[in-house]
Amino acid sequence: MFNSLSDRLAATFKNLRGKGKLTEADIDGTAREIRRALLDADVAVPVVREFIARVKARALGTEVAQSLNPGQQVVKIVNEELVGILGGETRELHFAKHPPTIIMLAGLQGAGKTTLAGKLAAHLKNRGHQPMLVACDLQRPNAVGQLQVGGERAGVPVYAPHPGVSSETEEATGDPVAVAEDSITHANEKLHDVVIIDTAGRLGVDEEMMTQAANIKSAVGAHETLFVIDSMIGQDAVNTAQAFNEGVNFTGVVLTKLDGDARGGAALSVAQVTGKPVMYASTGEGLKDFEVFHPDRMARRILD
Ligand code: GDP
Repeated sequence: MFNSLSDRLAATFKNLRGKGKLTEADIDGTAREIRRALLDADVAVPVVREFIARVKARALGTEVAQSLNPGQQVVKIVNEELVGILGGETRELHFAKHPPTIIMLAGLQGAGKTTLAGKLAAHLKNRGHQPMLVACDLQRPNAVGQLQVGGERAGVPVYAPHPGVSSETEEATGDPVAVAEDSITHANEKLHDVVIIDTAGRLGVDEEMMTQAANIKSAVGAHETLFVIDSMIGQDAVNTAQAFNEGVNFTGVVLTKLDGDARGGAALSVAQVTGKPVMYASTGEGLKDFEVFHPDRMARRILD
């Protein structure tokens, strides 16, 4: 992930650092190279445009002109602006004053929601919470079974419409909104302080799926709605993220498959175009392949 972007930026900065004073032409040249590197990494065009405009304006300003090491100063500016487009500060979950805190996961099919549900449950359990998982993806065959396996691995109970449904062929039936509502009553009875609801996705954005997700969200009054997105989907990331932002008004983003060798542009675009913070990253299929997302560390990963 980000390897090729990192290499390209490293080469650009190497040229820059070797220079004493920077001319406007040097800054133009550097901006052009950064622009190309970001576009080649599949960062969305409007995000690149805005990023370059900000870097250039600052690079031409006094903080660089008066610096003893102008090249280094420009690298610092790029770093700060990268942290900015990745969302700035680390954003933790907001827990409800009156438990349970209800967290809903939304996203396309295959984004990694069900896998993430188990990881997030394990993460919260490690922090002393008593989470419960809820199977509301009643569309994808075996999504309920997959969540049950994830719950078992995490040592967290799963609330499902038909606890026995786990075969590849047998589809769960039932109304996901009713399942979600019942699960909250159950969580209250069993004193779970966090409820994580897995919802159904489709291969593409579709109105019925979005309406279902929005209905679940409002029926249970979700405190956090996390939009789960595969970081390998490239330029499609922006449209998908915008559609979900309009459909369910999510509160945070989870980037999955950051272990892949994709160009990583989605990671840099989504927070910026939706104005919502990236909160977690998933970096593999195992329970432990999960990180709280730190914009500054991610920027360092790109620039180091
Ligand atoms: P859902 O349809 O959104 O619930 O997606 P799933 O959780 O079923 O994940 C789809 C596929 O992606 C599964 O094969 C997962 O094992 C895999 N997967 C999920 N997260 C990651 C990740 O972070 N890295 C990798 N390499 N694979 C992942």
